[in-house]
Amino acid sequence: MADNGKRVIIVTGGSRGIGRAICVAFAGNDTEVFFNYFSPGDPEGEKTAAAETEKMIAEAGGTGKGLWADIASRDETNAFFDQVLEEAGHIDVLVNNAGITKDALIVRMKEADWDAVLNVNLKGPFNCIQIIGKIMMKQRHGRIINIASIVGVTGNAGQANYVASKAGIIGLTKTAAKELAPRGVTVNAVAPGFIVTDMTAVVPEKAREAMLGQIPMGRPGQAEDIAGVVTFLASEQAAYITGQVIHVSGGMYM
Ligand code: NAP
Repeated sequence: MADNGKRVIIVTGGSRGIGRAICVAFAGNDTEVFFNYFSPGDPEGEKTAAAETEKMIAEAGGTGKGLWADIASRDETNAFFDQVLEEAGHIDVLVNNAGITKDALIVRMKEADWDAVLNVNLKGPFNCIQIIGKIMMKQRHGRIINIASIVGVTGNAGQANYVASKAGIIGLTKTAAKELAPRGVTVNAVAPGFIVTDMTAVVPEKAREAMLGQIPMGRPGQAEDIAGVVTFLASEQAAYITGQVIHVSGGMYM
């Protein structure tokens, strides 16, 4: 296992949206970014979106590589981390970003949709933290940043599965922060409000207007608004911050 001598960043779900912006924000000549992606669900299939992220990282002056892996699968997540370690020799930063929604009111929610969302949004980050926690504890340094959501704190009708996963990731963040702090590893969460991505593009017009009306700053956020806070939490300046949930919502939650 060769060590590449660079700062190694792992971002889950880097092919689109917030994850892609985070990958690009970390790009630099002293970093190497690895991200995973899942769609179209075929490892041999085209990886157009992931290739676009790789291109954007390169244009920003960095090195990045997208690897196919379903974050809900323990085996595929293990293989993903193994490949990164094989290529880079160590891991400095983990950003648990991958997430999905499958919305319905509780009384109509399908068991499969509950399971799918919890598996990707909560079990996935747990798997990653468990795998990387051992590595970072040995290294005696590391940064873990989990992407939660404003609704994990406020609740949201029609999103019981998603809200439960995001409330869960906040609890997971605080627990991992307490367990890993003595070994020099910080664990924090960023809770976005309403950010312009594919995920919010499917929100019906009426609900979108209602949400925008709740933002004191009067505009939705951009993926880069989240990426900036993530890179800060991974920086030296944030060395004494752990177990926190940073809301980035234009004041939607105070
Ligand atoms: P998005 O545009 O839908 O992107 C989701 C990303 O997750 C994609 O890169 C996708 O990969 C990846 N992904 C999905 N399922 C995966 C799996 N099983 N394994 C690996 N990767 C998987 O969503 P987004 O808006 O950027 O959201 C990113 C994170 O921010 C999520 O955790 C979300 O809950 C959170 N968030 C978003 C908002 C918002 O307003 N947008 C608000 C609060 C929190 P493929 O492209 O390969 O499918």
